[in-house]
Amino acid sequence: MTTESVAAEAGRDFIRDIVQSDLDAKRLSAIVTRFPPEPNGYLHIGHAKSIALNFGIAQEFGGRCHLRFDDTNPTKEEQEYIDSIQADVHWLGYDWGKYLFYASDYFERLYDWAEGLIRAGLAYVDDQTQEEIRIARGTLTEPGKNSPFRDRPVEENLDLFRRMKAGEFPNGARVLRAKIDMAAGNINLRDPVLYRILHATHPRTGDKWSIYPSYDYAHGQSDAIEGITHSICTLEFEDHRPLYDWFLEKLPVPSTPHQYEFARLNLTYTLLSKRVLTQLVRDGHVAGWDDPRMPSIAGLKRRGVPPAAIREFVKRIGVAKANSVVDVGMLEFCIREELNRTSQRRMAVLRPLKVVIENYPEGQLEEIEAINHPDDPTAGTRRIAFGRELYIERDDFMENPPKKFFRLSPGTEVRLRYAYFIRCTGIIKDASGEVVELRCTYDPATKGGNAPDGRKVKATMHWLPAAQSKPAEIRVYNQLFSKPSPDAANFAADINPQSLEIWTDARIEAAVAESNSNEVIQFERQGYFVRDKDSTRDHPVFNRTIGLRDTFAKEVGGKG
Ligand code: ATP
Ligand code: MG
Repeated sequence: MTTESVAAEAGRDFIRDIVQSDLDAKRLSAIVTRFPPEPNGYLHIGHAKSIALNFGIAQEFGGRCHLRFDDTNPTKEEQEYIDSIQADVHWLGYDWGKYLFYASDYFERLYDWAEGLIRAGLAYVDDQTQEEIRIARGTLTEPGKNSPFRDRPVEENLDLFRRMKAGEFPNGARVLRAKIDMAAGNINLRDPVLYRILHATHPRTGDKWSIYPSYDYAHGQSDAIEGITHSICTLEFEDHRPLYDWFLEKLPVPSTPHQYEFARLNLTYTLLSKRVLTQLVRDGHVAGWDDPRMPSIAGLKRRGVPPAAIREFVKRIGVAKANSVVDVGMLEFCIREELNRTSQRRMAVLRPLKVVIENYPEGQLEEIEAINHPDDPTAGTRRIAFGRELYIERDDFMENPPKKFFRLSPGTEVRLRYAYFIRCTGIIKDASGEVVELRCTYDPATKGGNAPDGRKVKATMHWLPAAQSKPAEIRVYNQLFSKPSPDAANFAADINPQSLEIWTDARIEAAVAESNSNEVIQFERQGYFVRDKDSTRDHPVFNRTIGLRDTFAKEVGGKG
């Protein structure tokens, strides 16, 4: 075990240690954190890590956690995303109470502070193009060059900035920049852009603004306005911290948050970037943000993944300061563990093969009692009809079995779960030679699945009654990408062509078909399944949440 995972088991990590010591030393009386998504896409499982960290710390230390939308880029942001983010945070089990905020609530104050920077000689309007600014910024090894507009008089800067605000200039004509140091070793300090001109309608402020603050300018100040004590973000913002601290020093902010950086979640076979996820949706590689193959919270939910499994996963991976990649098998393990405990058992046949029990009286039916959960007697039992015509799984029969095949083949005997022993006595094929029906006999003395003479069978198979089961469509999902580290720049090439398999002729227990429940169930020997929203009354559709065992390495060929 790594140090992080040992700490994670104990529910500790370096950020919680910092919070604890701040409280112990009485540096702070209350803990305030926030989760600050930009509403430009749906949340994914990486965000769940940040949500669990921020809301979790607030819960554990008696503080509060704000939900703040960082809505500073109206060209990419939409109300649909704002709504989905709120729904997903709630679904994960967290609540911001009355602490719902938007960076756009602070536009007025941020603007006033920017004028203050201009008056203090700490900001200027630059007329260079975006490209000129980029080139003059220099590189890691070369200093940048001062803009020819850097020493504009304060009055001219104020006048131009006000006219930018009034909408006098077209997009991109000018920007407001902080006046820090074009030779700074940290590129973020080379006169960063504070405001850009953007004639765009904002989901909340409409057409009021023609200029919008940069993320770097808005983010830290929003934290300061809200009194955030621990501003927790991912490692890529570590180099931005000196800039955020510069703002806190120069502006009349009401509080001075401290920023702490942690490693973002990376998962094998998965891309966690909103840019990529947006493109997967836009280009039709998936059916939408909630496609069950997506690592989005909406996709995981539709797939049947319980929020408790996500919380457990996030707890197990812990919080570290160094980037790493987590095996997606760890997430799958947490899903299986939770579902094994909570899911009722039922039977389904994905690829039905008809079986006729020749010695079972025609027209007769009996009820077989089946248990709903092997480890939980309180889950009770149910009854399944057993008669002359049944379905078994096509894969459970082989006409010419290899040595280690213990399921049904000509002459062999197997147990039908909860019911009887059956023996295969004949095969019926269609014109093309495909097996379409089996003829079997059953042993009436083996009712319940045991032989009074003590004879054993090597396989127990699931089955369903032919007429008393219902048809269903079953969707089996595999990894969306076929490589452990898909290439974010060229992700389409790494998409797994077998990421979705659809079984249109599946059969399920009648009661499952008729139920509207959204609870995940285990179809015995198949995995965990949940009813999909595409279901209609006559056409139930089930998603496989996950298989029973890790067959993934075999399916895609790769992993380990
Ligand atoms: P992306 O890089 O996918 O576009 P983002 O970081 O720009 O995502 P935001 O909406 O800004 O998306 O993210 C909100 C919060 O979630 C931020 O604090 C960010 O650090 C955190 N976050 C985003 N991705 C991850 C991840 N993979 N692991 C942990 N935290 C993450
Ligand atoms: Mg971001």
